Amino acid sequence: MTSPSKTIEDNSITYIYDKFTGKKIENIYLEHGQRPEIMFNVESISGSLDVFIQDEYGKTVYENYDIQSGEFLVELSRAGDYKVILNAEDHVGSYNMTWSLPKASSDEYVNPYENLAGGKWLKANFHTHAGTGPGTCGVNPQDVVIETYKQLGYELLTISNHDIFTDTSNYTDDKILMIPGVEYSPSSKGHMLTIGITQSLHEHTNQKAIEMTNEMGGFVVLAHPNWGRQGYWPLNELLSLKGYIGIEVINQLIYRLSGSGLATNAWDFLLSRGKLVYGFGNDDLHALGDAGRSFNIIYCKERTWESMKEAIDNGQFVASTGLYPEYLVLDGDTIRVKASYPIDTYVDTFTYRFIENGKVLSEQTAREGVYKLNGEKYVRVEVIGENGAMLFFQPVYLKDTLVKP
Ligand SMILES: [Zn+2]
Ligand SMILES: [Zn+2]
Repeated sequence: MTSPSKTIEDNSITYIYDKFTGKKIENIYLEHGQRPEIMFNVESISGSLDVFIQDEYGKTVYENYDIQSGEFLVELSRAGDYKVILNAEDHVGSYNMTWSLPKASSDEYVNPYENLAGGKWLKANFHTHAGTGPGTCGVNPQDVVIETYKQLGYELLTISNHDIFTDTSNYTDDKILMIPGVEYSPSSKGHMLTIGITQSLHEHTNQKAIEMTNEMGGFVVLAHPNWGRQGYWPLNELLSLKGYIGIEVINQLIYRLSGSGLATNAWDFLLSRGKLVYGFGNDDLHALGDAGRSFNIIYCKERTWESMKEAIDNGQFVASTGLYPEYLVLDGDTIRVKASYPIDTYVDTFTYRFIENGKVLSEQTAREGVYKLNGEKYVRVEVIGENGAMLFFQPVYLKDTLVKP
Protein backbone atom coordinates (compact mmCIF):
# COMPACT_ATOMS: atom_id res chain seq x y z
CA MET A 1 0.00 0.00 0.00
CA THR A 2 2.31 2.84 1.11
CA SER A 3 5.59 1.23 0.23
CA PRO A 4 8.34 2.10 0.54
CA SER A 5 8.02 4.45 3.46
CA LYS A 6 9.90 5.16 6.62
CA THR A 7 8.12 6.75 9.55
CA ILE A 8 10.21 7.94 12.47
CA GLU A 9 8.58 9.16 15.66
CA ASP A 10 10.04 9.92 19.08
CA ASN A 11 9.58 6.36 20.24
CA SER A 12 8.91 4.38 17.09
CA ILE A 13 10.35 3.55 13.67
CA THR A 14 8.32 1.91 10.93
CA TYR A 15 9.91 0.89 7.65
CA ILE A 16 7.76 -0.53 4.85
CA TYR A 17 9.55 -1.56 1.66
CA ASP A 18 9.16 -3.46 -1.59
CA LYS A 19 12.42 -5.34 -1.06
CA PHE A 20 15.31 -4.80 1.33
CA THR A 21 18.75 -6.33 0.97
CA GLY A 22 21.72 -5.26 3.09
CA LYS A 23 22.09 -3.69 6.48
CA LYS A 24 20.34 -0.91 8.37
CA ILE A 25 21.36 0.49 11.72
CA GLU A 26 18.84 2.27 13.92
CA ASN A 27 20.14 4.14 16.97
CA ILE A 28 17.79 4.03 19.90
CA TYR A 29 17.96 5.66 23.29
CA LEU A 30 16.04 3.90 26.04
CA GLU A 31 15.14 6.46 28.67
CA HIS A 32 15.78 6.02 32.36
CA GLY A 33 12.63 5.45 34.33
CA GLN A 34 11.03 3.49 31.49
CA ARG A 35 11.08 -0.24 31.03
CA PRO A 36 14.23 -1.00 28.98
CA GLU A 37 12.46 -2.90 26.25
CA ILE A 38 11.76 -2.71 22.55
CA MET A 39 8.57 -4.08 20.96
CA PHE A 40 9.05 -5.37 17.43
CA ASN A 41 6.49 -6.20 14.79
CA VAL A 42 7.86 -7.82 11.65
CA GLU A 43 5.88 -8.63 8.53
CA SER A 44 7.78 -11.18 6.43
CA ILE A 45 6.32 -12.10 3.06
CA SER A 46 9.51 -13.58 1.60
CA GLY A 47 13.30 -13.43 1.99
CA SER A 48 14.99 -13.22 5.37
CA LEU A 49 15.50 -10.63 8.07
CA ASP A 50 17.81 -10.90 11.10
CA VAL A 51 17.92 -8.51 14.06
CA PHE A 52 20.90 -7.83 16.33
CA ILE A 53 21.10 -5.38 19.20
CA GLN A 54 24.36 -3.92 20.50
CA ASP A 55 24.80 -1.94 23.69
CA GLU A 56 26.84 1.26 23.94
CA TYR A 57 30.07 -0.77 24.28
CA GLY A 58 29.42 -2.63 21.04
CA LYS A 59 28.56 -5.85 22.79
CA THR A 60 25.83 -7.92 21.10
CA VAL A 61 23.07 -8.35 23.65
CA TYR A 62 20.39 -9.86 21.42
CA GLU A 63 20.25 -11.80 18.16
CA ASN A 64 17.35 -13.26 16.22
CA TYR A 65 17.67 -14.89 12.80
CA ASP A 66 15.26 -15.35 9.90
CA ILE A 67 12.34 -13.69 11.67
CA GLN A 68 8.86 -14.76 10.69
CA SER A 69 5.81 -12.48 10.79
CA GLY A 70 4.73 -11.53 14.26
CA GLU A 71 5.36 -9.48 17.36
CA PHE A 72 8.14 -9.97 19.88
CA LEU A 73 9.42 -8.07 22.88
CA VAL A 74 13.12 -7.65 23.63
CA GLU A 75 13.85 -6.91 27.28
CA LEU A 76 17.24 -5.30 27.88
CA SER A 77 19.06 -5.03 31.17
CA ARG A 78 19.21 -1.23 31.47
CA ALA A 79 18.46 2.16 29.95
CA GLY A 80 20.95 3.76 27.53
CA ASP A 81 22.04 3.87 23.90
CA TYR A 82 21.53 0.84 21.71
CA LYS A 83 22.18 0.04 18.07
CA VAL A 84 19.59 -2.13 16.38
CA ILE A 85 21.14 -3.79 13.31
CA LEU A 86 18.77 -5.19 10.70
CA ASN A 87 20.31 -7.56 8.17
CA ALA A 88 18.15 -8.51 5.23
CA GLU A 89 18.33 -10.63 2.14
CA ASP A 90 15.61 -10.05 -0.45
CA HIS A 91 13.26 -9.30 2.42
CA VAL A 92 9.74 -8.32 1.34
CA GLY A 93 7.70 -6.89 4.20
CA SER A 94 8.15 -4.31 6.92
CA TYR A 95 9.29 -3.77 10.46
CA ASN A 96 8.25 -1.59 13.35
CA MET A 97 10.13 -0.97 16.60
CA THR A 98 8.41 0.83 19.44
CA TRP A 99 10.04 1.73 22.77
CA SER A 100 9.65 4.19 25.67
CA LEU A 101 5.89 4.57 25.37
CA PRO A 102 4.43 7.82 26.70
CA LYS A 103 4.26 7.96 30.48
CA ALA A 104 1.08 8.80 32.31
CA SER A 105 1.11 12.37 33.62
CA SER A 106 -0.88 11.26 36.68
CA ASP A 107 -2.64 8.19 37.98
CA GLU A 108 -5.87 9.56 36.58
CA TYR A 109 -7.88 7.48 34.13
CA VAL A 110 -9.83 8.92 31.20
CA ASN A 111 -13.32 7.49 30.80
CA PRO A 112 -14.90 8.63 27.52
CA TYR A 113 -18.35 7.85 28.94
CA GLU A 114 -18.02 10.15 31.94
CA ASN A 115 -20.70 12.80 32.42
CA LEU A 116 -22.99 11.79 29.58
CA ALA A 117 -26.09 13.91 30.03
CA GLY A 118 -28.66 15.78 28.05
CA GLY A 119 -28.42 13.66 24.95
CA LYS A 120 -29.37 10.23 23.72
CA TRP A 121 -27.90 7.15 22.08
CA LEU A 122 -28.35 7.18 18.30
CA LYS A 123 -27.85 4.16 16.06
CA ALA A 124 -25.51 4.75 13.12
CA ASN A 125 -24.02 2.95 10.14
CA PHE A 126 -21.25 4.62 8.14
CA HIS A 127 -20.67 1.89 5.56
CA THR A 128 -23.46 1.17 3.07
CA HIS A 129 -23.44 0.56 -0.66
CA ALA A 130 -26.56 1.59 -2.60
CA GLY A 131 -27.84 3.19 -5.75
CA THR A 132 -24.98 2.49 -8.18
CA GLY A 133 -26.87 0.05 -10.40
CA PRO A 134 -26.81 -3.59 -11.55
CA GLY A 135 -23.51 -5.46 -11.29
CA THR A 136 -22.10 -3.11 -8.63
CA CYS A 137 -21.79 -3.36 -4.84
CA GLY A 138 -24.57 -0.79 -4.56
CA VAL A 139 -27.10 -2.76 -6.58
CA ASN A 140 -30.04 -1.92 -4.27
CA PRO A 141 -31.82 1.39 -4.83
CA GLN A 142 -31.06 4.16 -2.36
CA ASP A 143 -34.67 4.67 -1.28
CA VAL A 144 -35.11 0.96 -0.47
CA VAL A 145 -31.86 0.82 1.52
CA ILE A 146 -32.56 4.04 3.43
CA GLU A 147 -36.11 2.93 4.23
CA THR A 148 -34.72 -0.40 5.54
CA TYR A 149 -32.42 1.45 7.94
CA LYS A 150 -35.24 3.70 9.11
CA GLN A 151 -37.35 0.64 9.89
CA LEU A 152 -34.44 -0.73 11.94
CA GLY A 153 -34.34 2.45 14.06
CA TYR A 154 -31.22 4.06 12.62
CA GLU A 155 -30.99 7.84 12.96
CA LEU A 156 -27.60 8.36 11.27
CA LEU A 157 -26.64 6.76 7.96
CA THR A 158 -23.94 7.10 5.33
CA ILE A 159 -24.26 5.74 1.81
CA SER A 160 -20.54 5.19 1.16
CA ASN A 161 -20.01 3.95 -2.38
CA HIS A 162 -16.66 2.96 -3.85
CA ASP A 163 -14.73 6.01 -5.04
CA ILE A 164 -17.85 7.94 -5.91
CA PHE A 165 -19.91 10.41 -3.89
CA THR A 166 -23.62 9.64 -3.80
CA ASP A 167 -25.66 12.63 -2.67
CA THR A 168 -28.41 11.45 -0.33
CA SER A 169 -28.97 14.76 1.49
CA ASN A 170 -32.62 15.03 0.42
CA TYR A 171 -33.42 11.81 2.32
CA THR A 172 -32.74 13.58 5.62
CA ASP A 173 -36.02 14.01 7.48
CA ASP A 174 -37.31 14.08 11.07
CA LYS A 175 -36.32 10.41 11.57
CA ILE A 176 -32.89 10.11 9.97
CA LEU A 177 -29.88 12.33 9.31
CA MET A 178 -27.96 11.34 6.19
CA ILE A 179 -24.20 11.77 6.62
CA PRO A 180 -22.17 12.25 3.43
CA GLY A 181 -19.23 9.95 2.73
CA VAL A 182 -17.30 7.80 0.29
CA GLU A 183 -15.50 4.47 0.62
CA TYR A 184 -11.98 5.24 -0.56
CA SER A 185 -11.11 2.04 -2.39
CA PRO A 186 -8.61 2.29 -5.25
CA SER A 187 -7.20 -1.14 -6.09
CA SER A 188 -4.01 -2.00 -4.19
CA LYS A 189 -4.75 0.57 -1.48
CA GLY A 190 -6.45 -0.12 1.83
CA HIS A 191 -10.14 0.75 1.94
CA MET A 192 -11.15 3.65 4.18
CA LEU A 193 -14.42 5.37 5.00
CA THR A 194 -13.98 9.09 4.38
CA ILE A 195 -16.97 10.48 6.26
CA GLY A 196 -18.37 14.01 6.21
CA ILE A 197 -17.09 14.89 2.73
CA THR A 198 -18.83 15.20 -0.62
CA GLN A 199 -16.10 14.09 -3.03
CA SER A 200 -13.99 11.04 -3.76
CA LEU A 201 -10.30 11.26 -2.88
CA HIS A 202 -9.26 8.04 -4.62
CA GLU A 203 -6.58 9.75 -6.69
CA HIS A 204 -4.61 10.49 -3.53
CA THR A 205 -2.56 8.24 -1.27
CA ASN A 206 -4.16 6.89 1.88
CA GLN A 207 -2.26 9.41 4.00
CA LYS A 208 -3.14 12.38 1.80
CA ALA A 209 -6.81 11.34 1.64
CA ILE A 210 -6.94 11.17 5.46
CA GLU A 211 -5.41 14.65 5.75
CA MET A 212 -7.78 16.11 3.16
CA THR A 213 -10.82 14.56 4.86
CA ASN A 214 -9.74 16.03 8.21
CA GLU A 215 -9.16 19.45 6.61
CA MET A 216 -12.69 19.35 5.22
CA GLY A 217 -14.01 18.69 8.73
CA GLY A 218 -14.64 14.96 8.33
CA PHE A 219 -13.12 11.83 9.83
CA VAL A 220 -11.65 8.57 8.52
CA VAL A 221 -12.31 5.00 9.61
CA LEU A 222 -10.09 2.24 8.20
CA ALA A 223 -12.32 -0.52 6.84
CA HIS A 224 -12.35 -4.28 7.47
CA PRO A 225 -8.73 -4.74 8.65
CA ASN A 226 -8.88 -8.55 8.26
CA TRP A 227 -10.85 -8.91 5.02
CA GLY A 228 -9.52 -11.89 3.06
CA ARG A 229 -6.63 -12.50 5.44
CA GLN A 230 -5.32 -11.35 8.79
CA GLY A 231 -3.44 -8.20 7.93
CA TYR A 232 -5.46 -6.97 4.93
CA TRP A 233 -4.44 -3.74 6.62
CA PRO A 234 -0.83 -4.62 7.61
CA LEU A 235 -0.30 -3.76 11.27
CA ASN A 236 2.85 -1.76 10.52
CA GLU A 237 0.89 0.35 8.05
CA LEU A 238 -1.79 1.03 10.67
CA LEU A 239 1.04 2.22 12.91
CA SER A 240 2.59 4.52 10.36
CA LEU A 241 -0.59 6.23 9.10
CA LYS A 242 -1.57 9.46 10.84
CA GLY A 243 -4.82 11.26 11.43
CA TYR A 244 -7.47 8.56 11.23
CA ILE A 245 -10.03 8.31 14.04
CA GLY A 246 -10.61 4.56 14.16
CA ILE A 247 -10.93 1.15 12.56
CA GLU A 248 -13.85 -1.18 11.93
CA VAL A 249 -13.48 -3.67 14.78
CA ILE A 250 -16.54 -5.45 13.44
CA ASN A 251 -17.81 -5.59 9.85
CA GLN A 252 -20.24 -8.46 9.47
CA LEU A 253 -20.28 -8.38 5.65
CA ILE A 254 -16.86 -10.02 5.77
CA TYR A 255 -18.50 -13.21 7.11
CA ARG A 256 -20.14 -13.55 3.66
CA LEU A 257 -16.80 -12.94 1.87
CA SER A 258 -13.54 -14.27 3.32
CA GLY A 259 -11.16 -13.62 6.17
CA SER A 260 -12.53 -12.20 9.41
CA GLY A 261 -14.93 -9.38 10.17
CA LEU A 262 -13.43 -8.97 13.63
CA ALA A 263 -10.31 -6.83 14.07
CA THR A 264 -9.78 -6.70 17.82
CA ASN A 265 -6.24 -7.99 17.20
CA ALA A 266 -5.42 -4.85 15.22
CA TRP A 267 -7.20 -2.68 17.78
CA ASP A 268 -5.25 -4.07 20.74
CA PHE A 269 -2.03 -3.91 18.70
CA LEU A 270 -2.53 -0.16 18.19
CA LEU A 271 -3.77 0.58 21.71
CA SER A 272 -0.87 -1.32 23.27
CA ARG A 273 1.51 0.88 21.24
CA GLY A 274 -0.07 4.05 22.61
CA LYS A 275 -2.38 4.89 19.67
CA LEU A 276 -5.82 6.17 20.68
CA VAL A 277 -7.87 4.57 17.94
CA TYR A 278 -11.63 4.02 18.32
CA GLY A 279 -13.53 0.88 17.40
CA PHE A 280 -16.43 1.12 14.92
CA GLY A 281 -19.04 -1.40 13.79
CA ASN A 282 -20.52 -1.17 10.30
CA ASP A 283 -22.67 -3.27 7.99
CA ASP A 284 -20.86 -2.65 4.69
CA LEU A 285 -24.27 -3.43 3.20
CA HIS A 286 -24.23 -4.99 -0.25
CA ALA A 287 -27.42 -7.14 -0.02
CA LEU A 288 -30.47 -6.03 1.97
CA GLY A 289 -29.98 -8.92 4.40
CA ASP A 290 -26.72 -7.28 5.54
CA ALA A 291 -28.66 -4.48 7.23
CA GLY A 292 -28.52 -4.11 10.99
CA ARG A 293 -25.83 -6.68 11.74
CA SER A 294 -23.10 -4.35 13.05
CA PHE A 295 -23.54 -0.73 14.04
CA ASN A 296 -22.46 2.19 16.20
CA ILE A 297 -24.44 3.71 19.03
CA ILE A 298 -23.37 7.29 19.55
CA TYR A 299 -24.25 9.54 22.47
CA CYS A 300 -25.37 12.75 20.73
CA LYS A 301 -26.71 15.93 22.32
CA GLU A 302 -28.78 16.47 19.18
CA ARG A 303 -29.24 14.67 15.92
CA THR A 304 -26.82 16.94 14.02
CA TRP A 305 -23.49 16.45 12.28
CA GLU A 306 -21.78 18.71 14.86
CA SER A 307 -23.08 16.77 17.88
CA MET A 308 -22.23 13.45 16.28
CA LYS A 309 -18.72 14.58 15.29
CA GLU A 310 -18.03 15.87 18.79
CA ALA A 311 -19.16 12.55 20.31
CA ILE A 312 -16.97 10.58 17.91
CA ASP A 313 -13.93 12.78 18.58
CA ASN A 314 -14.41 12.10 22.30
CA GLY A 315 -15.01 8.36 21.98
CA GLN A 316 -18.58 8.65 23.27
CA PHE A 317 -19.88 5.71 21.27
CA VAL A 318 -19.80 1.93 21.13
CA ALA A 319 -19.66 -0.67 18.36
CA SER A 320 -22.33 -3.35 18.54
CA THR A 321 -23.86 -6.41 16.96
CA GLY A 322 -27.07 -6.15 18.97
CA LEU A 323 -26.45 -4.96 22.54
CA TYR A 324 -26.82 -1.44 23.87
CA PRO A 325 -24.82 0.34 26.56
CA GLU A 326 -26.53 1.10 29.89
CA TYR A 327 -23.48 2.70 31.47
CA LEU A 328 -19.73 2.56 31.93
CA VAL A 329 -18.67 4.52 34.99
CA LEU A 330 -15.46 4.95 36.93
CA ASP A 331 -16.12 4.68 40.62
CA GLY A 332 -12.73 5.72 42.05
CA ASP A 333 -10.52 3.23 40.23
CA THR A 334 -13.27 0.69 39.65
CA ILE A 335 -15.02 0.28 36.31
CA ARG A 336 -18.72 -0.57 36.55
CA VAL A 337 -20.34 -1.43 33.28
CA LYS A 338 -23.70 -2.66 32.14
CA ALA A 339 -25.24 -3.61 28.81
CA SER A 340 -28.82 -4.33 27.81
CA TYR A 341 -31.00 -5.41 24.93
CA PRO A 342 -32.90 -2.49 23.39
CA ILE A 343 -36.24 -4.20 24.05
CA ASP A 344 -38.57 -4.97 26.93
CA THR A 345 -37.05 -8.19 28.31
CA TYR A 346 -36.34 -10.11 31.51
CA VAL A 347 -32.82 -10.92 30.19
CA ASP A 348 -30.41 -8.98 32.38
CA THR A 349 -27.26 -11.10 32.57
CA PHE A 350 -24.33 -10.67 30.21
CA THR A 351 -20.74 -11.83 29.96
CA TYR A 352 -18.30 -8.95 30.55
CA ARG A 353 -14.67 -9.16 29.44
CA PHE A 354 -12.04 -6.66 30.56
CA ILE A 355 -9.13 -6.61 28.12
CA GLU A 356 -5.67 -5.08 27.90
CA ASN A 357 -3.10 -5.81 25.16
CA GLY A 358 -5.33 -8.56 23.76
CA LYS A 359 -5.40 -10.41 27.09
CA VAL A 360 -8.59 -11.00 29.04
CA LEU A 361 -7.87 -9.65 32.53
CA SER A 362 -11.24 -10.74 33.89
CA GLU A 363 -14.38 -12.36 32.55
CA GLN A 364 -17.63 -12.29 34.50
CA THR A 365 -21.17 -13.39 33.78
CA ALA A 366 -23.36 -11.14 35.88
CA ARG A 367 -25.90 -8.31 35.89
CA GLU A 368 -23.02 -5.80 35.98
CA GLY A 369 -19.31 -6.06 35.15
CA VAL A 370 -16.90 -4.77 37.81
CA TYR A 371 -13.14 -4.35 37.47
CA LYS A 372 -10.65 -2.61 39.73
CA LEU A 373 -7.94 -0.84 37.74
CA ASN A 374 -4.39 -1.48 38.83
CA GLY A 375 -2.04 0.63 36.73
CA GLU A 376 -3.09 -0.80 33.35
CA LYS A 377 -2.37 1.63 30.51
CA TYR A 378 -5.80 0.90 29.12
CA VAL A 379 -8.68 -1.45 29.66
CA ARG A 380 -11.46 -1.99 27.17
CA VAL A 381 -14.71 -3.82 27.79
CA GLU A 382 -16.42 -6.32 25.51
CA VAL A 383 -19.86 -7.67 26.38
CA ILE A 384 -21.56 -10.79 25.04
CA GLY A 385 -25.30 -11.51 25.21
CA GLU A 386 -27.17 -14.80 25.33
CA ASN A 387 -27.60 -14.87 21.54
CA GLY A 388 -23.91 -14.12 20.88
CA ALA A 389 -24.53 -10.41 20.23
CA MET A 390 -21.56 -8.25 21.22
CA LEU A 391 -20.82 -4.77 22.42
CA PHE A 392 -17.42 -3.06 22.25
CA PHE A 393 -16.79 -0.08 24.52
CA GLN A 394 -13.99 2.37 23.74
CA PRO A 395 -10.98 2.09 26.06
CA VAL A 396 -10.61 3.64 29.49
CA TYR A 397 -6.96 4.74 29.68
CA LEU A 398 -4.35 6.37 31.89
CA LYS A 399 -4.18 10.03 30.97
CA ASP A 400 -1.61 10.79 28.22
CA THR A 401 -0.64 7.14 27.66
CA LEU A 402 -2.83 6.95 24.56
CA VAL A 403 -2.55 9.63 21.90
CA LYS A 404 -4.52 9.95 18.65
CA PRO A 405 -2.46 8.81 15.67
ZN1 LIG B 1 -14.25 -2.18 1.38
ZN1 LIG C 1 -17.66 -1.42 1.42
